[in-house]
Amino acid sequence: MESKFQICLARIRLADLRALFQGLFTAFNSLSAVLLPTTCKLCQGPVEDVRLSVVCQPCWDRVSQVEEPFCGVCGYAFPSKAISQEGARCGACRHGLYRFDVARAWAPFRDSVKGIVHELKYGRHRSLARPLALRLAGVYQAHWPLLRADWVIPVPLHPARKRERGFNQSHEIARHFSRTAGIPLAEHWLLRTRPTQVQAGLTRRERRQNVAGAFRTSNGAGISGRTLLVIDDVFTTGATLNECARILKENGAAKVAVLTVARVIKE
Ligand SMILES: [Zn+2]
Ligand SMILES: [Zn+2]
Repeated sequence: MESKFQICLARIRLADLRALFQGLFTAFNSLSAVLLPTTCKLCQGPVEDVRLSVVCQPCWDRVSQVEEPFCGVCGYAFPSKAISQEGARCGACRHGLYRFDVARAWAPFRDSVKGIVHELKYGRHRSLARPLALRLAGVYQAHWPLLRADWVIPVPLHPARKRERGFNQSHEIARHFSRTAGIPLAEHWLLRTRPTQVQAGLTRRERRQNVAGAFRTSNGAGISGRTLLVIDDVFTTGATLNECARILKENGAAKVAVLTVARVIKE
């Protein structure tokens, strides 16, 4: 009897200890949240609400947006203010290199925006997708008030790359954009058929070859005759977006517009 009583006592003590440790752990977490406020991932400055953005407001404000003069078709910002005739076309558009109809970006790919995209993709801070989508919705409304896109389509990642990263950043941005702009999201209509090499470090020609035939569509009927808005994080040479547009057009899309967070501009 005595031994049973001792076992019972030991159990109670163990349960008490566990509760005590849990209590201490919770208290430590709350205390550390107060004592160690989360800092901005880019500048280490204070962040108002880390659940909304791991980047502080001043870093968001420092992003310089794409400004005129830019190419009337693909939105490429001309480095020189001298080229400012209305409806001006960049070299790529004059040579008809792009298969999409129009493209715009929120910001040139430099400074804060580089850090924000990096934190989204490689820091895996998904919460950055929403504020980026809100900014893209602003660009969409300002530049294309008459476009009336039927569907929003994110540039897909190959499933192997998606597993590695845990999510597709373009899909995350497109999902929030779709809700904000009130344009339905076409999920899995555009698919990667094979994994492609990372585009960074490849020449324009290599990038084109790398993505050639890398996509297919799963819903020809939904695409046919529609105006589609393709969303991605960064427009570098446009090889990936061009290939997406080619496939969508071949499957009957009436119009393909491209919207990206950032655009690489040669200085
Ligand atoms: Zn900051
Ligand atoms: Zn252009």
